Amino acid sequence: MYKVFGVRHEYFYGGVLTIDILDCNANCIFCFTEREKERKEVTASLDYFIPEDQKQGYQYKIWGRSKNNRPVDDSRSDNDEYALIPADEIAVEICKFANDNGYPKIRISSGEPATNFDDLLAFLDAFSANRTSQLFILETNGKTIGQYPEKAEKLAEYLPWLYIHLSLKTPDKVKYVRCECGSAMNFDHSRNAVDVLADLQFFQENKSHVVFVWDLLEKNDIESIKQDYVSRGIKIEYETIYFYNFINNRIRNAKCDDLFITELDKIYS
Ligand code: SF4
Repeated sequence: MYKVFGVRHEYFYGGVLTIDILDCNANCIFCFTEREKERKEVTASLDYFIPEDQKQGYQYKIWGRSKNNRPVDDSRSDNDEYALIPADEIAVEICKFANDNGYPKIRISSGEPATNFDDLLAFLDAFSANRTSQLFILETNGKTIGQYPEKAEKLAEYLPWLYIHLSLKTPDKVKYVRCECGSAMNFDHSRNAVDVLADLQFFQENKSHVVFVWDLLEKNDIESIKQDYVSRGIKIEYETIYFYNFINNRIRNAKCDDLFITELDKIYS
């Protein structure tokens, strides 16, 4: 079962249908799902999240049974809900929706889909049986894959259409731990996921990629990314943080303001 709190269109990857889940094995201080975790549980099918009048078109929208279907921001309501939905049921429904609306790519985001690996495999099997030509982008923090390489071997069975977006956050272990992304051991597991996936040819032809949080990178971090990953032909992407008020508060409370680098800091450092 995945905790689904929305389905939306995103412009990443040239247009991608995105399923937002709450499940995660980390608790990063800059995570936008922090507020979403206060949602109430309901049991429902995925159709519950795609109101009839919003099934058409490619507008940017959060499809969720939140009040007014607002984008995720500081104004979420106590009435917002998420649904516990079997992973294979999500795959069937989302493929149907993607086929009807011409989406070439689908991804699960916001949480960590590999937290329950059996759910992930159930999703991928059902996706495989119901997709037409869609690619699937698995966004993961790599902890599970790096700790249990045999699980990455299972994922390699879906390689022709499975891309991995491996979010390492930062190349700096101290920053990683201070940002509450996980323990020092988790950092090592996530880094190990790069080697495991590289051995399984995931990074060939730039299909999968490694991702860092741009706001956390100093010049020396960028140098170490070049040295450790770019030099091996691994494609790198950067993501940025949305500094909502609740995220700023959390960063301040954790006394981590010093970790976030502005563009000017980067230029003059
Ligand atoms: S790994 Fe991703 S989803 Fe999980 S807490 Fe960190 S930022 Fe949020």
